[in-house]
Amino acid sequence: MLLELLQETAVAPTSSQQARQHLRALGLRPTRQRVEMFLLMHSLGATHFGASDMHQWLLKRGNPVALATVYNNLKEFVEAGLLRRVSFSSAQAIFDTNIKPHHHIIDSSGLIIDTDAVDYVLKKNFPNRYGQEIVCVEITITVRSPDLHGAGKADRNGDE
Ligand SMILES: [Zn+2]
Repeated sequence: MLLELLQETAVAPTSSQQARQHLRALGLRPTRQRVEMFLLMHSLGATHFGASDMHQWLLKRGNPVALATVYNNLKEFVEAGLLRRVSFSSAQAIFDTNIKPHHHIIDSSGLIIDTDAVDYVLKKNFPNRYGQEIVCVEITITVRSPDLHGAGKADRNGDE
């Protein structure tokens, strides 16, 4: 999914020079891989990906780099506040370019969608009996999409 998105991505909105300056300002040495990763993240907007997605993309762009290096760079980006690491039920670490608090909808295909739709309702109905203040509300909603392959199978069955 991410790779398809990347292939459709045109020009990154940030130049390499700006990326290097930004990384330096955050105390990160602007290595070639970090600059590439930074530019990629900014060209994608709000999205979610695993270290292996980023690794595959870098390889396709002709940047041979070890998966461990990609993962370490992503971890440093998280520590610098450029990315968030989000916890879902999958074993793979997922990184989120949207660093503001928000909720997620996870489709059965693995697609992760940001949403803020439930935030207002939850805050309005919070039982504030002891003067607590909601600092952050984050919900993950897991959904199952219609099985498109199953629909095709039904058609084939109808032909018999
Ligand atoms: Zn998100």
